[in-house]
Amino acid sequence: MAKLFFKYGTVFSAKSLNLIATAHNYETQGKKVLLMIPGMDTRSDGYISTRAGFKMEAEMIQDTSNVLEVFKKHMKQHEKIDCVLVDEVQMMTKEHVNQLREITLTYNTPVICYGLRVSYTLELFEASKQLLALADKLEEIKTVCWYCNSKATHNLKLVDGKPVYEGNPIDIGGLEKYLPVCYKHFAHPLT
Ligand SMILES: [Zn+2]
Repeated sequence: MAKLFFKYGTVFSAKSLNLIATAHNYETQGKKVLLMIPGMDTRSDGYISTRAGFKMEAEMIQDTSNVLEVFKKHMKQHEKIDCVLVDEVQMMTKEHVNQLREITLTYNTPVICYGLRVSYTLELFEASKQLLALADKLEEIKTVCWYCNSKATHNLKLVDGKPVYEGNPIDIGGLEKYLPVCYKHFAHPLT
């Protein structure tokens, strides 16, 4: 059976760059990948893009979309999909993750999901929680804390330079107000 992966990291951990590199490796070998991004991510505009300037076209998944149906539609067009790659998976729903799990089971196609594990409010995102429960393989994409050289484990939200710990866990604002931090600097940012 093909595996379901959850590759999680903080903001600025180059998750999208990692996704695009993986897609590029498949395509170099003449293999077909299907890229998905949540429609809720209004920055995406149907593309997965990186701060480093790379971008690739992706299928936008709305809250009401059935991921399995999207996959089947692409299977009809291309006969075979070798890998499904999902960006910003934390903005998807629990049902989407269940459907992604089904793709690995029914079609023997690996699914690699990239996203945040925990919100700035210290809550597990619904989709991330489901992935922690269902994935075959968990992998941390690492980066360092903004304020020191410890590994970043949390996402700090700053508004006008002040830390914010409450609100809607899924905040669609620009990522520039989020910083990758260790727990010490999450609790006590150097502002
Ligand atoms: Zn730190």
